[in-house]
Amino acid sequence: MSESDFYDVIIIGGGPGGLTAGIYSMRAALDTVMIEMTAPGGQVNNSDSVENWPGDEHIGGAELAMKFSLHAQSYGLEVRSDEVIDLEPGLDFHTVKLADGSTLQSHAVILATGGNPRKLNIPGEDELYGKGVSYCAVCDGFFFRDKTVVVIGGGDTAAEESLYLAKLAKQVYLVHRRDALRAGALLQQRVKAECKIEILWNSVVTAIKSDDSGVAAVDLQDTQTGEQRELATDGVFIFIGFNPNNHLVPAGTRMNADGYVVTDDKCETNSPGIYVIGDLREKYARQIVLSAADGCTSALAAAHYVETRKTSEVCELPQELQDLAS
Ligand code: NAP
Repeated sequence: MSESDFYDVIIIGGGPGGLTAGIYSMRAALDTVMIEMTAPGGQVNNSDSVENWPGDEHIGGAELAMKFSLHAQSYGLEVRSDEVIDLEPGLDFHTVKLADGSTLQSHAVILATGGNPRKLNIPGEDELYGKGVSYCAVCDGFFFRDKTVVVIGGGDTAAEESLYLAKLAKQVYLVHRRDALRAGALLQQRVKAECKIEILWNSVVTAIKSDDSGVAAVDLQDTQTGEQRELATDGVFIFIGFNPNNHLVPAGTRMNADGYVVTDDKCETNSPGIYVIGDLREKYARQIVLSAADGCTSALAAAHYVETRKTSEVCELPQELQDLAS
């Protein structure tokens, strides 16, 4: 391995968390590389409009992603476009293997691979994404002021997001496949008390239909009788769970039952020098601003970690001096 393949910090994933980590890492004068499989910005690129990034009342997701990326590159952040296939933690350094066959090593690794909302995989879901189909009420709810929306799911997220949407929309239909919500008792009470929310029990959405302006209706099926009907709606919000991209998380790393990595307040895992940030980390909410905050925290913590490693390397006596001392 050449010396240039050894870094202070390797950042895996180029979403808002990874790019913010890149900015802070470069500002801390750490030799850093970021590895991103697709376009920098991650999921933000898929957001039609972002309206909760402080300082920008309204900005396109792709434009915000580009701004993050240009900001990081202005500090000279090295970006490699490749797929990471393996992350091996080590006592002295960590090893990252890439799909192109190369191997990189570093003192610290910041894992920022995010996750993806679970999909229903029904007709209209992919085609109408961004045109009335959404997986984020906080991001897109504003576009449905005084309109009718369908929310799918019965867990805490569906319940919370239904309550959020009820503040904006004219009518919220919460479609759940069973006759009882999975959400916590308090959330259930609040959902049931909200007059703008109507729960459609024992129902599944089998297709999302459109007209020229986007989503127009859903096909509903009663899970008990099999009866089908059409329900007019302006939007469809799908909250049936989230899949964290945890396939690179090394064995032995502490994760919760849902597959999110548990870290300390420095975003450090139970493997020293391995940090997990953004949507892959166990946390209360998943927002761009929180991923960026994790990026900052992890890079500052990594800078301290790398400094400690380098200091201990410098302080290590050469063998002949160690022999003399013993
Ligand atoms: P979740 O708890 O896994 O709930 C997913 C919901 O979607 C369930 O009601 C499930 O139905 C339904 N579902 C799954 N696949 C479906 C399909 N193919 N078709 C129709 N419905 C489907 O996911 P979540 O609500 O995103 O929550 C994830 C975790 O985060 C949970 O542990 C949750 O407690 C936590 N969380 C906590 C808070 C909070 O404490 N404030 C907020 C958000 C999330 P069934 O019920 O029939 O399985």
